[in-house]
Parts: sequence; C-alpha cells; structure tokens
Amino acid sequence: AVDITHVSKRFGNNEVLTDISFDVREGEVVCLLGPSGSGKSTLLRCINQLEVVTTGDVLVFGKRVGYEEVAPGTLRVTSPERLAESRREIGMVFQRFNLFPHMTALENVMEAPVQVRRMPKVEAAEAARAQLKRVGLSDRAEFYPSQLSGGQQQRVAIARALAMQPRIMLFDEPTSALDPELVGEVLSVIKQLAAEGMTMLVVTHQVQFALDVADRVVFMDGGVIVEEGPPVRVVEHAQSERARKFFSELR
Ligand code: ATP
Ligand code: MG
Repeated sequence: AVDITHVSKRFGNNEVLTDISFDVREGEVVCLLGPSGSGKSTLLRCINQLEVVTTGDVLVFGKRVGYEEVAPGTLRVTSPERLAESRREIGMVFQRFNLFPHMTALENVMEAPVQVRRMPKVEAAEAARAQLKRVGLSDRAEFYPSQLSGGQQQRVAIARALAMQPRIMLFDEPTSALDPELVGEVLSVIKQLAAEGMTMLVVTHQVQFALDVADRVVFMDGGVIVEEGPPVRVVEHAQSERARKFFSELR
C-alpha cells in the first residue's frame, strides 16, 4: 500500500529522516514507535504529502507522490489534482482531534464527502451515521464537540477520516492527548478496524496495543529505522541496545 525507498528529509541543515526504506502492505497493521524527535510524525507527513521528501521515493498504492515522473528521468512536483486524488486514499488522524467546533458530530463527518466528493447531503448524512455507528457513537450524532469527551471526539475524528473511504489510515499518536481512562475506547476502535482488514500505520507509545494488534513493529531513533519485525521480537527481544532501553522504559 505504501512503499518508501531511501527517503531522506532535511529541514535546512537538520536531517530528520535518513535513508528510510520500508513498506506497509495491504491489510497490514504496522506500529511505529520511537523516542520524541525521532522523525515519526515527519515520516507520516511525507506519506500524505504534508511534507515533500528531500530525496527518495514515496509510493502510495503504486503511484509516486511528492514528485511524479513526467518523462523518463524528469521529475516534477505532483500536480494539485494528483495530490488531491492521492490524499483521498489516505485517512489521517492526529493527536489533536481538530473537529469543527460549530458543527455537530454528524456534520463533522459529512463535511468532506459533501465539500470534496460533492456527495448529496442526504446521502452523506446516511453514510456519516453509518461511520458514527462503526465507532460506537450512534447516540451522539447531534452533539457538538464541546459536549463530547476527548475519547468521543477522537472517535468522531476517526469516523470523519473513514467517511472518505480511505484505503489506508495513518494515526499519529491518536491517544496521547487523552486522559488515561479514555485511551481504551479509542484503541478498541482502531483494533476493530484492524479486524475488518483496514491497512494502517499507527504511531503510538502504547506498547501493549502494538503487541496485540500490529502485524509488524518498526522502531525508529534519530531519523533511522533501527529495528523492525514481528511485535514480540522487536518489543521483547530487541537486538539493539537503543531499542531495548526504549522498550524497557516504556513498560
Ligand atoms: P514526537 O514523539 O515528539 O511526536 P516525532 O518522532 O514525531 O516526535 P518529528 O515531529 O517527526 O518527531 O520531528 C523530528 C525532528 O524534526 C525534530 O527534531 C523536529 O524539531 C524536526 N522538525 C519537524 N518538523 C519540522 C519543521 N517543519 N521544520 C523544522 N524542523 C522540523
Ligand atoms: Mg510526533
């Protein structure tokens, strides 16, 4: 679904990602862990082109993003149309839910299908109710974000991303802004998506979640992938000192 080869990203002289290569296959759940500042968010942002990579290739469902080849050997920055098309295939959920405060849960979920897809409102409302049901919020459709708990708001944000029928979901620390007692309800929604076969790349500090749900765990530090593999191997039997130290401090 996502193929990343030899990707580097610099901000000025600061190289934040160094020669990263990895992939997420269709139907796979990959958890990305690593210390603060290791480049996890930057990597996600390169996949949905909130950032353009400095070197290397990012392919989303087989198509290069960031740059596209217009003739053999000639690259050009991706056209806005192609960018929009590729972004529609990617659902992204951030640490902060960023719901529209003046819209109900239902209206938040309907917004992109109506505005971007030009879906008729009646149809969009019906689809939005189905997505709210999927995240367990059928009874909160008419509530405003301020009337919802953090966990409920994050589930609305997930429903909103799902409403565009993405082929892959990217999560950037979806539970980090939540009170501990609200983490579980959000993780169980993500777990359920995994069970439905959704392709997902999840940045998280929840080691137990990674052990339970991930097909593969990737450990990043200092802008490089230090280790990747089956969850138990990476989390409990890490090869590198850096990963061992990181996981022992988290548990
Ligand atoms: P955290 O766990 O704290 O979210 P992270 O692994 O997601 O960390 P990134 O946010 O990807 O880390 O940041 C990696 C490095 O890139 C940091 O040193 C950060 O200061 C730098 N960086 C990120 N975005 C920018 C930017 N737009 N301009 C300059 N530097 C940036
Ligand atoms: Mg981050």
